[in-house]
Amino acid sequence: MKVLKFGGTSVGKPERMHAVARLISADSDPRIVVLSALSGTTNALVEIGQSLAEGNKEQAKQQIDKLEKHYRTFCEELVKQEAPRAKAKAVVDEHFEFLNIILKISFNEALNKDILAQGELLSTKLFTVYLEEAGIPAVLLPALDFMSIDEFEEPEIPKIKIKLGNLLDKQKGQHLFITQGYICRNAKGEVDNLKRGGSDYSASLIGAAIQADEIQIWTDIDGMHNNDPRVVKKTFPVEQLSFDEAAELAYFGAKILHPASIWPAQHFNIPVKLLNTMQPEAKGTIITELPNGDGVKAVAAKDGIIAIKIKSSRMLLAYGFLRKIFEIFEKYRTPIDMITTSEVAVSLTIDNQQQLDLILKELQPFGTVELDHHQTIVSIVGNEVAATPSILHKLFEALNEVPLRMISYGGSRHNISILVGGQYKERTLQLLNKGLFNLG
Ligand code: ASP
Ligand code: MG
Repeated sequence: MKVLKFGGTSVGKPERMHAVARLISADSDPRIVVLSALSGTTNALVEIGQSLAEGNKEQAKQQIDKLEKHYRTFCEELVKQEAPRAKAKAVVDEHFEFLNIILKISFNEALNKDILAQGELLSTKLFTVYLEEAGIPAVLLPALDFMSIDEFEEPEIPKIKIKLGNLLDKQKGQHLFITQGYICRNAKGEVDNLKRGGSDYSASLIGAAIQADEIQIWTDIDGMHNNDPRVVKKTFPVEQLSFDEAAELAYFGAKILHPASIWPAQHFNIPVKLLNTMQPEAKGTIITELPNGDGVKAVAAKDGIIAIKIKSSRMLLAYGFLRKIFEIFEKYRTPIDMITTSEVAVSLTIDNQQQLDLILKELQPFGTVELDHHQTIVSIVGNEVAATPSILHKLFEALNEVPLRMISYGGSRHNISILVGGQYKERTLQLLNKGLFNLG
């Protein structure tokens, strides 16, 4: 069994949805197809939730009406025959009626999650209606019946495995299953989600739960590229990555894949392919356990980083100092990305600033604390990249004109990370494209 996930742009227009239907019915291998919401929908639902949270029902109503109109037009193009049109209309009626009911009741966070779930519910139901019209047999598996997270918001693979297994057992003889990405139930049984971009994570969790042969993530770009195509002119798709390399790239800024989606695939050793719906024959990127190739494969950048420097003479010849510092970050559940130390100071970076004030307060007694906002981590990833001859020479030469705030080298064999001021991000990526890949 394979798992195929299609993102928002792959289903965002009726003709794109038609193309997905053709793609998934090209052969009869058993498969589970995971869909995102139509592009723009989740953003719109977030805005509706915000309006309601602010008590602005009028604005929320306008936003709901606008979205509804979009879906009505979408359906006209999606299906042509009378019976499927009626079915598509009933789907849109149902979900927009729900949103309009929410307008009337008092808003809370659980309701907000219900609102956010409407996008994937709509896309999968409408897609199933189209498949029926196209004569492609398929079964809709409601993600809310099997996908779950525990009280720490961690997915429960063993439970997912049992529930999904039971659902599939009831559908013997069927080959094509459609389900929602992103949405799940939480420990209280309420509708919840796997956070923005979480459909990739859904696909990977489903792949892990059913021990799939392969997880395919279909987007609108032909795999993970060596650099950010929005910043540099020339990039190329990276053919192969190891799970560790892909995890570094996804975490450090490559937008194509949700970073959390790597570990379930890695844990159960299931290959992940990144493919392009616009160019289905393109090789894309394959991510497997095997490290492979030499030298730098790709660079990625992650913005919005804060660097924190704690300087203290108490650190000199002391032990236990770092533990005490790290415990503060642990207490406030704030992950640290990069760290460098000298004998009297430690610099580290975080990207989640929710608890920053509390963290700073507790760091105060340890010494002088300095902050740098708006930093960018640029990560240079490849197999044995840290052991690649003259890599540092090339790197420093390429970045001659850029002030480097931190460098992390040797933490892993396949990654070198540097921290630069956010204003240098684009220049850094451009210089690395030239210096490391010989591209403009
Ligand atoms: N629809 C959700 C989002 O836009 C999940 C996803 O597309 O992966 O974040
Ligand atoms: Mg995505």
